[in-house]
Amino acid sequence: MIDLRSDTVTLPCKNMRRLMSNAMVGDDVYGDDPTVNELEHYSAAIHGFDASLFVTSGTQANLLAIMAHCDRGEEYICGQNAHNYRYEAGGAAVLGSVQPQPIENEADGTICLDKIRAAIKPNDFHFAKTKMLSLENTIGGKVLGLDYLKSARSLTKKFGLKLHLDGARVYNAKVALDVEITEISKQFDTMTVCLSKGLGAPVGSILLGDEEFIEKARRIRKMLGGGMRQAGILAAAGLYALKNNVERLAEDHANASYLAQRVNELPGFDSSKYQVQTNLVFLDVSEEVDIASFSKAMYEQGINITPGYQGMRLVTHSGISRDDIDVFIDKAKVYFNC
Ligand SMILES: *Cc1c(COP(=O)(O)O)cnc(C)c1O
Repeated sequence: MIDLRSDTVTLPCKNMRRLMSNAMVGDDVYGDDPTVNELEHYSAAIHGFDASLFVTSGTQANLLAIMAHCDRGEEYICGQNAHNYRYEAGGAAVLGSVQPQPIENEADGTICLDKIRAAIKPNDFHFAKTKMLSLENTIGGKVLGLDYLKSARSLTKKFGLKLHLDGARVYNAKVALDVEITEISKQFDTMTVCLSKGLGAPVGSILLGDEEFIEKARRIRKMLGGGMRQAGILAAAGLYALKNNVERLAEDHANASYLAQRVNELPGFDSSKYQVQTNLVFLDVSEEVDIASFSKAMYEQGINITPGYQGMRLVTHSGISRDDIDVFIDKAKVYFNC
């Protein structure tokens, strides 16, 4: 299968699997798993934080951050397109009794700082207390630049808000910006990293922050049923991912640009409105094309894509080579007789 649906479909490579099967393990709820401890120490160190927590998913990492920073009846500001507002089943509200205050994202993925300032509630008992700003980098495949992050940092400092980064794909931002990861991470109080997307581990995210925050998050993780036992088998994969799979993301970005260019050879497909910055390709599809039938025909020929509504998102990752993209375009051309 040539699977262009997401970078979450990546499979662990042989070396990763070998490290997983050889990993030293123990009961992590007792703090006894040496490989989990190694991952937590290593990831705290390379991102410039005091502490780190290995968690089941990016969704859990975000929820822990929101619940650790905000009490019941408090709120966090985020983008209208933020994953932790839109795509996490309303967990902050349902499980944390925390109110999201979404603000529309600008075309470049940022949130206008003046709009953030205007949304921060004054200290008045009519209002929920604003405690945190959550940014996402990359967001919809777009990279937030360092200058923007610095400005957001100044703003949150001025108003006493915590600044959180949903960094599910922060390594794609790091590679696209060609900077050290700490140039990004140092602007934030807390941050998440997905190990299970482009970095290629099968399961898990890390949550980063200071000791007090991570202790609080650890308690909430237990409450949510996220305490894991011999999780070193998974942590070993995460360590391998952080040590070996970062720089290769540049390949995914180059392949995404190539794919965005080649899809324009197909009738009714147009990616020109969307600039490719990382590994996500967006395109419009004209009404003459029945996307559902097209996707079904492609699936029958070993190409997996998610049909969207008059458009689609295609994602490159370690399982997609340039040849795979050519195969996809060739088969699509046969389908369209062009
Ligand atoms: C995928 C993703 C998450 C959630 O990660 P899961 O491991 O799928 O729960 C959070 N934020 C962003 C930006 C993501 O892309």
